[in-house]
Formats: sequence, C-alpha cells, structure tokens
Amino acid sequence: MRLILLIIFSITLIACSMDKKQTGTSEQNAKTFIRKATIEKTIDSLKSKMESPDMLRISKGVKQVAEFWTKEDGNDDDFMNYCVENFINSEEELSLAFETIQKNFEILNGHFNKISLSLKFAQHIDEGDVTPLDIMFGGYEPSSNLQDDLFSNKIAFYILLNFPHYTLEEKNNLGKSWTPKQWAYARIGDIFSSRIPAELMLKFGDLNNRCDNYIANYNIFMGSVIDKDNAVNFPIDMKLISHWNLRDEIKSNYKSENGINKQKIIFEIMKRIINQEIPQNVINNGNLKWEPFENKVYEGDKEIKFTTEPDTRYQYLLDNFKMLSAMDKYSPFYPTYIDRKFNQEMEMPFEEVENIFIELISSEQAKEVGKFIKERLGRDLEPFDIWYDGFKSRSNISDEELTKITSQKYPDNKAFKNDLPNILSKLGFSKDKALYLSEKIEVDASRGAGHAWGAQMKGEKARLRSRIGKSGMDYKGYNIAMHEFGHNVEQTFSLYNVPEYMINGVPNTAFTEAMAFMFQQRDLKVLGIKNSNPDEEYMHSLDVFWSSYEIMGVALVDMYIWKWLYENPNADAGELKNAVLKISKEVWNKYYAPVFGVKDQEILAIYSHMISYPLYLSAYPLGHLIEFQLEQNFKSKNFGEEVERTTTIGRVTPKSWMMSAVNSDLSAKPVIDAVKESINYFKNK
Ligand SMILES: [Zn+2]
Repeated sequence: MRLILLIIFSITLIACSMDKKQTGTSEQNAKTFIRKATIEKTIDSLKSKMESPDMLRISKGVKQVAEFWTKEDGNDDDFMNYCVENFINSEEELSLAFETIQKNFEILNGHFNKISLSLKFAQHIDEGDVTPLDIMFGGYEPSSNLQDDLFSNKIAFYILLNFPHYTLEEKNNLGKSWTPKQWAYARIGDIFSSRIPAELMLKFGDLNNRCDNYIANYNIFMGSVIDKDNAVNFPIDMKLISHWNLRDEIKSNYKSENGINKQKIIFEIMKRIINQEIPQNVINNGNLKWEPFENKVYEGDKEIKFTTEPDTRYQYLLDNFKMLSAMDKYSPFYPTYIDRKFNQEMEMPFEEVENIFIELISSEQAKEVGKFIKERLGRDLEPFDIWYDGFKSRSNISDEELTKITSQKYPDNKAFKNDLPNILSKLGFSKDKALYLSEKIEVDASRGAGHAWGAQMKGEKARLRSRIGKSGMDYKGYNIAMHEFGHNVEQTFSLYNVPEYMINGVPNTAFTEAMAFMFQQRDLKVLGIKNSNPDEEYMHSLDVFWSSYEIMGVALVDMYIWKWLYENPNADAGELKNAVLKISKEVWNKYYAPVFGVKDQEILAIYSHMISYPLYLSAYPLGHLIEFQLEQNFKSKNFGEEVERTTTIGRVTPKSWMMSAVNSDLSAKPVIDAVKESINYFKNK
C-alpha cells in the first residue's frame, strides 16, 4: 500500500484533461458568472495591447479564468482588469513565473505533507499508547483551506490565466515532442481543475468516515456459522471481514482438508451479503448461530425470526454517488465522477481501460487456463475458483523457517534500516546508488500492516513502515517491508531525480504498485534463497493471468455500475441493488460462464471497494499488466539501473510513460502471449 497524502493539490495534481465532447465551450460559458461579451471584450483588449499576441494562450487563459470566477471574486470589470493586468506575453517572463510557481508548490506540498506525517506519527508508529487526543490531531487536515485561500488571493486565477489546461488527448499527442519543462508547464495547467465548496468537501469527508466504519465493522463470526448438518467448520474465535478475509479464507483452503466445504460455506455467505439477504443480527455478532444455505438463525438450539440487512450496502454506494455527482458542476474540465477518475486521475479513458480488460477476459486463454485449473483440482470449476490460488510458486521453505531467518536478521527497525544498502546491492543497484537511496529512506515499526509514505519536497525522507514485533520482523512483515521499500525507492527517485518538480511521481497508483510488486517478488532472492522450481516462470504467468482475469471482471462491474448511476440519478437503494445484481450477472454470463460452465452468478459484486472507494478497482489489474510488461523488459538488463531509468521519467501520461519505459503501450497482450507459452509448456511436460 502507498499512502497518498490528502493535500487537495496532490489530488488535483494527479493529472488532468478536458473531454471536449462533453464540455462544449458554449455550455460552459452558459454556467459561468462572467458574461460572454465580457470574455470577448477581454480577449480583444489583450490582443490590441500586445505586439505579437499569442492568440491561443490568450483565448484559453481568459476562458479558463471565467470558468472559475464567481461573484465573490469581483464584477465583470474586475474580471477584465485582472486578466489584462496579469496576462504574461513573453517566454522569459513565463519561464520566470513557472520557476516561482514550481518552487512554491514544492514548499506548500512538502511542508503540508510533513505536518500531516508528523501529526499522524502516534497513530501510525508502534510506540506507546494512542490517546483520543492523538487521534484528534491525526485527523486534522492542515491543507484543507489551501485551495480556497489560493482562489481568494487570486494565485489560482494567475495560474489559470497563464498556463493552459491540456486535455488528455492533447497531452498524449502534443506530449510526444514535449520536453520535461513543457510537461511541467502542462502540469501547472492541471492544478486548478475544480473549485468545490469547502462545505461540500466536509460533508464528503464525513460520508467517507461513515463508509469506512461500515466496511471496517462488517465481520462474520465464523465460529457461529453452521453448515446444513449443524456443524461448525471454522475455529471458534475466527472473525472474517468482508470481503478481504472471506476471499483470503477461500484462497487458503485449496490446500486444506475439508477445504471445499469451507469454501462453499463462504461462497454462500458472500451471496447473502451481495443480495442483502444476510440477517442483520449476524453481522459483527457472534452470539447467534447462522446457517447461510437455508438462511436460518438460531439462538442456542431454537430457530428465531430475523430481519435482513435493509440494503444498507447499496445505500452507502448511492450516498457516494449523490455526493460525488453534486461536485460535478464545480468541475468544469471533468463534469462527471467517471471523467475525474479516468480522464483526470488515471489519465486513461474509460473505454480504453474497458477494452484492455475485455481483451484479456474474453481471450481463448481464459478457457484454456480454466481447463488447466479444473484438471489440477480434479473437479468441475465453482464460481469461487476465480480466486484459485495454486499458481503461486512458493519456495519449499515454510513461513516458520523463513521467520526464523528474518527475525534474527531484523530484530528491530534499525537493523532493517542499516541493511537497506545491502538489500539494494543484491537487487543490482550500484554501491553509490544504494547509499544515495538508503540515506533518503527511514524505517519505522508500524502499528498497522504497513505502508510507504513518500516525501513531497527535496531534503525530506520517505518513510517505510512495516510491522516489527517484540521478537523481530516475521516473514510476513519482511515480505510487506520489501513491497513498501519498492514504493520508497520509486518515491525517492521520482522526487529527487526527475527533471522538474512539477512532474514528480509516476503516472498513477497502478504504476507505483507495479514497482512495489517487483521488489516484493524478489524478497527470497534478497535473503539468498534460490527458487529451484523449473516451472516457476510459467507458473508466474498463469498466476498473473488468473488474478487479472478475476479482478478485471470485478472492476468492470464497478465501472458499469457508475454508468448506470449516471443514467438513473433518481434511483433508490433497492433499485440500485437490482441493477448491481443484473450488471454482475451480465458480466459473468459474457466472460465467465463460458469458462466456468455455470450462468447467472453475482460473485463479482462482493468487493468492499465498490462501496467505499468507488472506481478504484481498475488500478489493480492495470498494476498487474504494467508489472508484467516491465519485468519482461527488465529481464536481460540490470534491475537497479532499469528501476532508476523508469522512475525518473516523471509524471507524464501513462501512454507517454510506457513508451519511454518499455517502448510500447499498456496492453494485455504480453500476459496473454506468455500464458500461451505456459499452457504449451505444461501440455508437453
Ligand atoms: Zn502498495
């Protein structure tokens, strides 16, 4: 996991584009406070003042200011005067303004990030007790008024007037010949893409908290779940959170005795959650017995009546839609949440992502791999086999033995910190680079599972957080630490070594996850343990393929639900539930039924992200594909040098980044091709 700071500018900094088709200029102007005639007059006035006016910049800049100008900012005369006085018409002056803006945004982002990091220290780091006051300070967001302030003092308008905003299409086309500095100019043009009232942001924050709470407290007490024969199949104190733990329990039962029965019970539980037929009183409650197949609840031995969960799950999703669509009118460049997620944040159009996913999930290889899994399991496929976990090529050393090694090697955070240069050398980084990076990364023992928190200004360190118990770092903690270390290396190179601060980072979340997975994948190699399994590479391709196949379907359901919401803005929670069930079955019937031989399954709708992080899910499969493409390209090269080369490209669009990194576009084809090879390999074995 990588923590992304909540500074409002980093959200808007995560890219921008304007979809021309959906935001025609005339329509925009109809909504703006400034009259059309004033805009024209301002443009003419600027034109007449200049010796050689740059008409495109003048026209774009003035219109951009008008998009965001409100009554409180002044009347039409104030607007005109502001534009005429502040428009820059020379390259040198513009370059000077760029340097000033870039320097000051590093100061703002860097320090706000440092404040947040420091205020959350007690909550995140495993030292002493956390008091309620710690949590109050930790929840404080120091930059929450920054955007308002920058509109009030008109810095925002200065930027809007002088730095044109480019659409995603323009960035991808023009960007082919852009220098890093031109990219940085374009990123400044991305900073102000919305002006959402603080009140609305506060309400959204509150909804987020309630959503998180709902999801975080949605546990199933497995010791209270009984099967058709009245038997308990799980440890009495086992508590599984939906959907993560439920899914992982399905995964872990491929190797265990009676595993298939346990998997079937969990599958039944999932269906009851999706359909909202789950008894309200078995959610987060272990005092009653629940038989999910017939859906019966018992108090002791006596069957009791119950009420089902009243579509709460879908009410939260609906509340998210209402809140996020209420922001549409304040986001002229990206007038829907779908636009903001895909065109702005990910910088990949909805249809492009959809096509990549469909290419993989409808491929002949899905059927082939399905057949292969069926053979390996010795039974017909069940819908929950989307989580088949048998392609992971683990070493033949048990987790306990590995823990012995890691806990001895890393008794505390300092030991891990001291070993960073050594780890990097083993990964192929030069001695100089290993020391350079290690100096800029600090290691803390975390309370939670772990995360990586990058700096936002040069001079500050990235933080690697992983769990380190009293008896040292166990293997799981080490494995996570390697993942977070990958994030930290990316964060460090992409801050310190990119050509311009304004393009620091990587294109989107999927890219940093890909880097983290590449480090995590090498955890045993770093410990000096060789995987002697000759099938490893072939198994890995199958693993990447099958996990992409699963999560792509899940992500498509998420995407289609949002399309439906925008088409049916007045739906209630019950109608939304029916739509989700219909959409998940449609996706299943189209791309999964041909592989599984069973129709009308709604399992793809179980993910909790759908409820609390809408439209986030597609980042996962894209991360898998990017990782795969990078690995293929790095194969015959030095890993350390390649990581440095790619993480210092900077935050250009995904298309441009992939061209620079691997000389091809993001695509499912490399994974599909590799799986063809794997299938052949195992056929001929
Ligand atoms: Zn991560």
